Amino acid sequence: MLEDNYKQRGLRNKLVKKLRQKGITDEAVLAAIGKVPRHVFFDDALLAHAYEDKAFPIGEGQTISQPYTVAFQSEKLEVKPGQKVLEIGTGSGYQAAILLELGAKVYTIEFNRKLYEKTKAFLPSFGYNPYFFYGDGSKGIPAKAPFDKIIVTAGAPVIPSALTDQLTEKGILIIPVGDRESQKMLKIHKNAGKLLKEEFNQFAFVPLLGEGGWTSKD
Ligand code: SAH
Repeated sequence: MLEDNYKQRGLRNKLVKKLRQKGITDEAVLAAIGKVPRHVFFDDALLAHAYEDKAFPIGEGQTISQPYTVAFQSEKLEVKPGQKVLEIGTGSGYQAAILLELGAKVYTIEFNRKLYEKTKAFLPSFGYNPYFFYGDGSKGIPAKAPFDKIIVTAGAPVIPSALTDQLTEKGILIIPVGDRESQKMLKIHKNAGKLLKEEFNQFAFVPLLGEGGWTSKD
C-alpha cells in the first residue's frame, strides 16, 4: 500500500491533467500535486479512490480535502520558497505536504487530539516535516506569529481577527467563510495595514471549531 509504483504515478499524472482542465495554472502547485503520494493517506478499503478528485473520510469524522480544493487554496496562497505558512486543520497532513513541496516553512495546527497524534507520527515517515501543534487554530499561534501566509482548511462562520492580526504586513489569508454546509472562498490580502478582500466560488468544508469558529451553541 505504501509503495509508490508506476501505477500510482500514472494516476497522479492523470489527476494533474484534470486539475489543469479545471483551471489550475500554477506550475509549482501542479508539480507538488504530481509529487505527493496521496494514496498513502488512504485506508486500504478506499485505496482505489486515492487519485479521484474527491474528498474522503480519514477517521474522527474528518476528511482529506478534494485535490481541486487543495490546489485552488494553494494557488491563491502564492507561496514562495522559504515563506512561513500557518495551516489551520492538519487533518491527514496532505495539504501540509503540498505546502512543504512548495518550499514553505509550515506550521500546522489540529484541534482533534487523535488526528494530531496520528498525523504527527505518520507524516515525517514520508520525509514531510512541518511543525505540528495541537490546539484551537482559530486563535492562530500567537507565539509563532507573524506568518507570511495563513490557510484555513475548515469552514468558518466569520474571519477570525486573530488570524488577520497574525499576518505579516504583506500577508495573505485564504479561508472558506459561510454557513455549516457551504462556504465562499475568501482571500484576504494585507497591505499597509489595510485588509483587501477577494471572493471566489463556493466550497464545502467540515466546520471550523473553537473560539473563532462554530461553538456548540451555534
Ligand atoms: N488540511 C486537511 C483537511 C482538513 S479537514 C488535509 O489536508 O487533510 C479540517 C480539519 O480541521 C479537521 O481535521 C478538523 O479536526 C480541524 N479543525 C476544526 N476546527 C479546528 C480548529 N479550531 N483548529 C484546528 N483544527 C481544526
